[in-house]
Amino acid sequence: MPIRLLDDQLISQIAAGEVVERPASIVKELMENSLDAGAAWIHVDIEHGGLRRIMIRDDGSGIGAEELPLAVARHATSKIDSLGALESVASLGFRGEALASIASVGQLTITSRRAEDAHAWAISPHVSEVVRPAAHDVGTRVEVRELFARIPARRKFLRTPATEFGHIRKAFNQLVLSRFDVGFVLHHDGSETVRLEPATTVDAMRRRVSTLVGGAFDEHAVEVDEQAAGMRLTGWIATPGFSRGQADRQFSYVNARPIRDKVFNHGVRLAYRDLLHNQRHPAYVLYLSVDPRQVDVNAHPAKAEVRFRESRLVHDFVFRSIGRALAAVEATPHAARQV
Ligand code: ADP
Ligand code: MG
Repeated sequence: MPIRLLDDQLISQIAAGEVVERPASIVKELMENSLDAGAAWIHVDIEHGGLRRIMIRDDGSGIGAEELPLAVARHATSKIDSLGALESVASLGFRGEALASIASVGQLTITSRRAEDAHAWAISPHVSEVVRPAAHDVGTRVEVRELFARIPARRKFLRTPATEFGHIRKAFNQLVLSRFDVGFVLHHDGSETVRLEPATTVDAMRRRVSTLVGGAFDEHAVEVDEQAAGMRLTGWIATPGFSRGQADRQFSYVNARPIRDKVFNHGVRLAYRDLLHNQRHPAYVLYLSVDPRQVDVNAHPAKAEVRFRESRLVHDFVFRSIGRALAAVEATPHAARQV
């Protein structure tokens, strides 16, 4: 075959592979958009593990009629306008790819209204590039149907609705613990799976954490709040009594962005080394705040990984902070322990 340029539709479908792996990736991207739009409440409505329908509704800033076609265009974003802005980006999104990717693998409809608009506007790129008037409150509602219907190769990799919903639940939990000031509702197949009011007091925050991490976490949770070298680590770690056979109760955030990071995890793990058997995993919900310029958030298409400029510094700070928190519990006689 001769070399030729791919058409736009195909480019989008290939790129979508990195962003939209399964229904849970869509839920994550759409919830991130709602958070970036300043939503106070986010409703997530899932049918059949997301295979039939994913709907996310927020009361955020909304999108104007003239911008709706741009929102679903590739590499179109309102969140950065320069490399400098990327280096200190505070929003969860910045790649301008999610909506375009989703539109290339499913039937997407966005309905949105800003406070200053007399009514909402909607766009369904699979039907028309023209926006139409619609009825909706201020905010945005994004609906995705027929996911991967026209891409059998991708559809094949999807699991049962129950498994896909499990992944959605995980993505939901992760974001829900990133912003306590926002309320969240999750519906699956018509029934309310979870409703979380905005949590403004420490007690309410702990309640949200135990709802999501498991009730026993709260009984074993130790508060962390350490500061050094321009960094701050806050959150909760469980005493070894709540250790797990799997690393499935570990939530880490950098500047309110959910991340997976080897350096970070290793720092925590190392602090537990004398308290936990090798096969046991600590449970934690930890928030690291650093100067945004110290962290590269564009290390991964799905933005799940970050790169620290001074990873040794971060590692040692996390290790020492957790070590101190654990030592403080060790020193108290009632500490629940299992060594
Ligand atoms: P990114 O989030 O990286 O900018 P997206 O494709 O996810 O890229 O979204 C494109 C643009 O559409 C965003 O920059 C934003 O301006 C707008 N947008 C998307 N979702 C929402 C929403 N829920 N509320 C308001 N604006 C939104
Ligand atoms: Mg986005």
